Amino acid sequence: MERIYNFSAGPSMLPLPVLEQAQKELTNYKNSGMSVMELSHRSGWFKEIIEGAEQGLRNLMKIPDDYRVLFLQGGASQQFSMVPMNLLGPSKKADYVHTGSWSKKAMKEAEKFAEVNVIVSSEDGSFTYIPEVTEDMIDEEASYVHITTNNTIEGTAFRNIPDTGDVPLVADMSSNILSEEVDVSKFGLIYAGAQKNIGPAGLTVVIIRDDLIGHADANVPAMLDYKTHSDAGSLYNTPPTFAIYMAKLVFEYIESLGGLKTMEKINREKADLLYETIENSDLFTSPVKKDSRSLMNIPFVSPSAQTDAEFLEEAQERGLETLKGHRSVGGMRASIYNAMPQEGVQALVRFMDEFEHHRNK
Ligand SMILES: *Cc1c(COP(=O)(O)O)cnc(C)c1O
Repeated sequence: MERIYNFSAGPSMLPLPVLEQAQKELTNYKNSGMSVMELSHRSGWFKEIIEGAEQGLRNLMKIPDDYRVLFLQGGASQQFSMVPMNLLGPSKKADYVHTGSWSKKAMKEAEKFAEVNVIVSSEDGSFTYIPEVTEDMIDEEASYVHITTNNTIEGTAFRNIPDTGDVPLVADMSSNILSEEVDVSKFGLIYAGAQKNIGPAGLTVVIIRDDLIGHADANVPAMLDYKTHSDAGSLYNTPPTFAIYMAKLVFEYIESLGGLKTMEKINREKADLLYETIENSDLFTSPVKKDSRSLMNIPFVSPSAQTDAEFLEEAQERGLETLKGHRSVGGMRASIYNAMPQEGVQALVRFMDEFEHHRNK
């Protein structure tokens, strides 16, 4: 069977050249006589892999020297609790920007440890826009300000990163890390589950500024303390070795394309093409406000659930898969992460046009 275009929100497509390289090396990695999955995480081979992965990410994101890169497990969801467990100062206060389902989950966890203050929310508009965040909203005593840079379910993204002054900015970047250039120095901490733009599920990447490490309470379990992982170079215990290897290949692949500048250009072209098709359509509409639109997750709706269902069924017959919208939003959602080829988006918009014109006849 041919490979299909998979518009899944995650786990999602991986670049074909990366999958092919992994396939080539699957049973015998660099003449070790073993698969990466069988290598000791203390071996020289794996040391080279994890160091290469870190360097690859540092190069792509231009991560400053005073930041650590951690390769963890537990998903982005575990960061919802690790962040407050590690970053809360004596005030126990944390500021959150509420932009959708994932920020809600992040706040719910933080409330177990912190006095959570929602400084601004777009709930009044069903999360169809990104609210403006200004410095005067921020409590000077807050230990951090938390944002979700890309709202995977609602299809919104911050176009400007807010300035939070001396209060560290923490970002859940799970669904748009590596999709565009970003100034890491604006953040105290960035975290991302791997399964959208980095690699297979099972790996979580944390980028944290040095001064934010080492403040966890004494009763915080070792595995949930950033210091444990930072001190051990992410080798305190067995890390998700194969996922780290895959991430390294993905980082190298993005670098070979021209890095994040090129990635951003391609992503803008893909998103523009899809948004233009929606704009020009009399059948499909976008629920998201123009200035808040995500480049990665693009929801769109037709006037009826019946039409949505027909569209989804016919799309699937053409190898355009997993376009069903999240149950909380309905309609369709095209997740077009880094690894979705331009041809995939072209095939989707061609089908959208055909579907609409066929109905009008
Ligand atoms: C997918 C996603 C999560 C959840 O990630 P897990 O790794 O499954 O815990 C959290 N936040 C955002 C923005 C996401 O897109």
